[in-house]
This record gives sequence, structure tokens and C-alpha cells, in this order.
Amino acid sequence: MTSNRVIIAGGGIGGLATALTLHQIGVPCIVFEAVRDLRPLGVGINLQPNAVRELYDLGITRAELDRVGLPAKEWALVGLNGNDIYSEPRGLLAGYKWPQYAVHRGLFHMLLHEKVVERIGPDAVKLGSKVTGYRKNGDGSVSALVEHADGATTEAKGALLVGADGIHSSVRAQMHPAQPPIHWGGAVMWRGTTWGKPIRSGSSFVGLGTHRHRMVFYPISHPDPHTGLAMINWIAEVTMDNADGWKQSGWFRPVSTHEFIHHFESWIWDWLDVPALIRKADSAFENPMIDRDPVTTWRDGPVVLLGDAAHAMYPTGSNGGSQAIIDARVLGAAIVEHGVAPQALAAFDGKLCGPISQLILRNRGAGPFGLLNMVDERCGGTFDNIDDVIPPKERADFMAGYRAAAGFAMDTLNKAPQTIAAGARVGGVAASQHASA
Ligand SMILES: Cc1cc2nc3c(=O)[nH]c(=O)nc-3n(C[C@H](O)[C@H](O)[C@H](O)COP(=O)(O)OP(=O)(O)OC[C@H]3O[C@@H](n4cnc5c(N)ncnc54)[C@H](O)[C@@H]3O)c2cc1C
Repeated sequence: MTSNRVIIAGGGIGGLATALTLHQIGVPCIVFEAVRDLRPLGVGINLQPNAVRELYDLGITRAELDRVGLPAKEWALVGLNGNDIYSEPRGLLAGYKWPQYAVHRGLFHMLLHEKVVERIGPDAVKLGSKVTGYRKNGDGSVSALVEHADGATTEAKGALLVGADGIHSSVRAQMHPAQPPIHWGGAVMWRGTTWGKPIRSGSSFVGLGTHRHRMVFYPISHPDPHTGLAMINWIAEVTMDNADGWKQSGWFRPVSTHEFIHHFESWIWDWLDVPALIRKADSAFENPMIDRDPVTTWRDGPVVLLGDAAHAMYPTGSNGGSQAIIDARVLGAAIVEHGVAPQALAAFDGKLCGPISQLILRNRGAGPFGLLNMVDERCGGTFDNIDDVIPPKERADFMAGYRAAAGFAMDTLNKAPQTIAAGARVGGVAASQHASA
């Protein structure tokens, strides 16, 4: 075992971005991933400019991102009468130095995995290996307790353990045994993808409806040059009474569109036919909008949490995937500065745990969709001219507040130095080294 090896629990977006970052700065690592084989699961997610900058710094190119998604051009909220509530350009069009990408989560995940295998080796990610907990050793190291698909259990020793094992994290459960159960605020999302003609700018994120009853959709592929059709990601959402808690089994259930289409049957305009969009979907999934109450720290000695394990949040800000990537890079920068040591984890925790915990609560309050709440409160969702309901400056200030809190305020980001300077390395470790279990 290499003495400064880092063990990563979870090979999702956060875990793989961490592996690529550690490799870049010359630190050996190994990823334990619970599923037996990685498949391109999920539908659309957004990668904000702050995350795309980090992907570029990791050597992931624009051409590669264009294979799994497309640059976003616009973010818009539209009322049920079809009138615009708010719209703003996104990514390069807004003046960021980096684009925002709307990607297929599964394809993007596969791209990260391909890079890890190419750069670190085929044994870098151990599939069918669930981390069930950890033990802090007397010599300052940590052992991850691993349960394999064949039922065997082993231990893997490392200098640090990164819990990137998602919202149901075992590492977090051990770190915070008294944490409350998953929090569900009453919103249910049905998600799917349908091939269709992109509207507005051709790459617009559109939020349509009211705070408690809405539809979000955006393309996640470039249009087919022959048909003009792109893969449209959609999320149909209704908020219901949550007094009895979530009663369905599981958190991501395949569903028939018949189970929810009645909520949207009348949503037909000359520019959009929502029931047709839903009906033509290849498949649909139901998942409640859930998160976890923030915790006071993401660290326990040589163990740290990142990504959804640290800060599962409502997807209202479209920044869960982006934040997992930022976490990986901020952790890498702390390791460059402090070495492969608990001090690096303390620096990472000190920098992000407080502000990102605030963001979890902010997203609970609807995140940027809070504008829909304001429209509901002020005019019951019906208006002719949005300026009479929320003046332009108030709308712009509201959105600027959200961007600043989520870490993608444009001027700050454009001027910020690289999170990890090009060529930065942790002293004396060859980048090609990696350890096996
Ligand atoms: C299958 C899947 C589909 C998703 N689809 C969407 C979507 O369509 N839209 C969206 O906005 N978000 C989706 N998400 C969530 C989104 O990917 C995350 O919010 C975000 O990318 C943060 O990533 P993460 O790596 O922290 O967590 P995750 O993406 O949840 O990754 C965690 C990884 O850890 C693995 N794991 C879990 N427990 C253990 C354990 N004990 N030991 C080892 N490995 C473990 C999981 O299998 C998973 O690969 C999905 C997540 C998953 C896992």
C-alpha cells in the first residue's frame, strides 16, 4: 500500500472528478464503487461555468463536452399565460470566459470514467465494491471497510478517505450517526427525455408555470443535422402535501407517463405542447425532490465528505453536479498546499462547509425559481406585463444574489486565479503511480 494513497468511496461525478484531480497533482488513489457495472444513467444536468473551467483545467476539451451535451445559451422563466417572467443569457453569451453546458448526466459520467481509466489505469475504479464504513487507525491512517459483490469483505488502508458516495452515503452515516432522515419538502419530479425541436435560442433552459406546478425543459444534445431534432430533457413537477412523508418505494422509480400526465394535459400553446412532449418520451422516472439537513462539518480526522454526500441539495439551482466538481478541485488545491494530510481536509472543510450549507437552505427556498413564488404571491400567477408585478431591477437583483451565493458570479469568476495552478504537484509523487486494493 502506498503510504499517501487516497481512498475514494463512490465513483459518481464527485468521486471521479476527485480521482482525476489527485492524479493531476501526483497523488495515488483508488475508487470503490458500489454498482457492478457503470451505465449511462440519469437524464439532464447543468455544468455551470465555474465547473466547466475546472473540467478544462483537467484537460477535458470542449469537443468532448459537445459529445455529451451542448453549451447553454439562455435561462428563462415563463408564466402559464406564455408571457416571459425573466430571461437572461448564459455562459459565453452572458460574458463568462467559460460556457455553461447542459449535458446528459449518464454520458458525462461515462466520459469521466473513460478519462480515469485512460490516465490512471483499468484498476483505478473497483466496481461492485461498497464502502460500508471506516476505521481510524492509531498511526493516523484510515481503513475503508469494503463489501464486495460476491459477499466478501476486505479493508483498504490509505492516508485519507474521501466519502463521495452520494445522498445515501455510508461514510456520512458513520460520521454523523444522529443525522435526521432524508428531507422531502413535498415536491415530486417526473423526469424524462424526448426527441424534439429546440425552441427559443435553440439551447434555452425554460421554467414554465407556477412555484407548485411547473415544467422545466432544455436540450441536452446538439440537434441532429438531418432532422433538426435534439434530445430534450424535461422535468414535470408538482408540490403536494408531505405530512405523511414519502410513501413510494425507492427514490428514483421508473414510471408510466399515465401516472402523472393528467397534471399537464391542458398545457398546450402554439409554441409548446407539453402533453405531447411527455407522451413521446422514451422512458420516465419519478423522484421526490429531496435533500439533507446541513451538518456542521464534513470532516472526521483523515475522512472527508464531498459532493452529494456532503451537501445533497434541491436541483433548483442546477448546481449539484457542478458543486461536486468544485469540491474535488478545492480539495485538490488544499492537498497541494497542505500535503496528503488531515490539515488539507480541515482547510477544505473550513472553506466550503459553511457557505455550501447555506446554499442547501437557499435552494430549499426555491433557489432561482423563487421568482415564481414572487409572481404567485403578488398576482396569483396571472399577469399581462411582468414589469407591473416585479420591476426589472428587482428581478435582476434577485438573480444576481443567487449567482453570488452559488459561486458563479461572473466578474468574480472571470477574475479568479485557477483553483489549481497549471503544473502544481504534491512533492515527490509520480503521477503515473496508483495502488491496487
Ligand atoms: C444513477 C444516478 C442518476 C442520477 N440522475 C440524475 C439526473 O438525471 N439529474 C440530476 O440532476 N441528478 C442526477 N443524479 C444526481 C447527480 O449526479 C448528483 O447530484 C451530482 O452529480 C453529485 O454527484 P456525486 O458524485 O456527489 O453523487 P452521485 O452522482 O450520487 O454518485 C455517488 C456514487 O457513489 C456510489 N455509491 C453509493 N453508495 C456507495 C458506497 N457505500 N460505496 C461505494 N459507492 C457508493 C453510487 O453508486 C454513485 O455512483 C443522479 C445520480 C445517480 C447516482
